[in-house]
Amino acid sequence: MPRIVTAALQRLSSRRAIIGTVAVVAAILLSSLLYAQRLKEYLSGIKWPEVKVVDPGAPGAHPGDAIVLFDGKDMSQWVDGDAWKVQDGYVITAKQDIHTKQAFGDCQLHVEWAAPEEVSGSGQGRGNSGVFLMSLYELQVLDSYDNSTYPDGQAGAIYKQQPPLVNVCRKPGEWQTYDIVFTAPRFDEQGNLAKPAYITVLQNGVLVQNHFELQGATSFIEAPKYTAHSAKMPLQLQYHNNKVRFRNIWIREL
Ligand code: MG
Repeated sequence: MPRIVTAALQRLSSRRAIIGTVAVVAAILLSSLLYAQRLKEYLSGIKWPEVKVVDPGAPGAHPGDAIVLFDGKDMSQWVDGDAWKVQDGYVITAKQDIHTKQAFGDCQLHVEWAAPEEVSGSGQGRGNSGVFLMSLYELQVLDSYDNSTYPDGQAGAIYKQQPPLVNVCRKPGEWQTYDIVFTAPRFDEQGNLAKPAYITVLQNGVLVQNHFELQGATSFIEAPKYTAHSAKMPLQLQYHNNKVRFRNIWIREL
């Protein structure tokens, strides 16, 4: 082949190579651009305030922003608290119901309780007490370890409204925990129910009430019903003829 023809073919071949390379690079850049556009970060546009820092406390202790209602020493946070006997870091129910001096609405509440070690009585007569949110809505306290009663009246039940999801009661005398998240009901200006109350409860770390919608105040003699009340009401603990012990009670307003 004449030399002039060979040189022309070589030039043509190198130009094709350059064009090919440019085309490949352009295709890569274009696909990267399209990919980046597909991955563009979503922004809600909401300007959230800085999240408050809260000391969670050591294991078993209360969080830094909790209101301590009973620290094992005195019952100064309670009306008629002296009716119950404080000893050895706990308080024993006696004589009458008691309620907090302060009123609460939406809250997170931690309570530790123990039914009497010495078993006596049966059904509702064994280790009975109660945690009354807003003094009206009872989360039942009962020795439900090998003690049969109506399911919506056993430990972890919203009294006469909803049995617990499971029975996780410890033996009589052993300490048990309730961790409660409560949303207070809302009433309109006419006193009609605008939003019901909700409650979530963990007993001994196990879910026993999952965002249960309360049907109204809990009662022994009446069907549950709502009656308009203040946005905040005292927390009440029940005396029900049994020597139930309480300790480490704290609450966080939500
Ligand atoms: Mg009770």
